[in-house]
Amino acid sequence: MTIKNDLASITQKTLSQPITYVGIGLHTGCKAAMVVRPAEPDSGINFLRKDAPPGKGFIAARWYDVVETHMSTVLGNQYGVTISTVEHLMAALHGCGVDNALIEIDGPEIPIMDGSSHPFVTMIEKSGTVNQPALRKAIWLQRRISVKDNDKEAALIPSSIPSITVDIDFPDSAVGKQTYTVQLVNEAFRADISRARTFGFAKDIERLQKLGLARGGSLHNAILVDGDRIVNAEGLRYKDEFVRHKILDTLGDLALIGIPIYASYYGKKPGHTINNALLHKLFEERDAWSYITIDEYNTLVGRRNEWEQDGEEYSQQTQNAGNA
Ligand SMILES: [Zn+2]
Repeated sequence: MTIKNDLASITQKTLSQPITYVGIGLHTGCKAAMVVRPAEPDSGINFLRKDAPPGKGFIAARWYDVVETHMSTVLGNQYGVTISTVEHLMAALHGCGVDNALIEIDGPEIPIMDGSSHPFVTMIEKSGTVNQPALRKAIWLQRRISVKDNDKEAALIPSSIPSITVDIDFPDSAVGKQTYTVQLVNEAFRADISRARTFGFAKDIERLQKLGLARGGSLHNAILVDGDRIVNAEGLRYKDEFVRHKILDTLGDLALIGIPIYASYYGKKPGHTINNALLHKLFEERDAWSYITIDEYNTLVGRRNEWEQDGEEYSQQTQNAGNA
């Protein structure tokens, strides 16, 4: 069996053509127009606030530029210019294997669209991606990295196939305890995760709006939970949509590493704060991982598969090669 991995392209990819979105931000309620443009190899994902003073609007989508993690992930630069709620777009780009893109936007927050990554994924697929003349690099984890914060936990565990497992436990019985694992292979992100919407609780709305959050929230872009009840008339897209959305958020947060990571993620009641702490720990513990090219990864994983599933034939071939 060959492992087909969405993130296993040997070369870097960018979009075939620019994609335009217009919409309101979930927290600020601000309307913004956004153009996701193709970008040069090795440039990564970056934002450009078109409404910032000239030369001050560039913000890199990297873990060390995260300036706020309460309710959403906010990135900022040295001039104090920020871009909010980047996680659903980052998950879509990462899940679709886009390495390099420049996102131009004329407001402070990424449009929330329908509350999931699906509108972004649909447009990225429609636009198409192109291979670029540069090898894709990844992080190969050799040792477990974990962080804890009271009853929350987040960990990266060595694994040749990237996966994300999340456990959640909310007092509102419409959500309750949920657990889900996705292996990031064979279109699983698109089919099983990308449509899961963000959610909020009726009891929190007033408090959040006083804090200047959830101002753009509505039943068009979020699931509203009230105790044992889902307020949205259309119900849920997956019966465990809540935990799947937490996986979507986590994928978006992990995308801020800047390159794929070959590791399994485990999160117990995770959020943007602990996910960012995990990435800080990862880069502090530099001896726990190494950079590899995807070519090297495929060779490592391919060899392991051959040993496990076709050991005899493989050793025969190796001997023959040695004899030649
Ligand atoms: Zn989210």
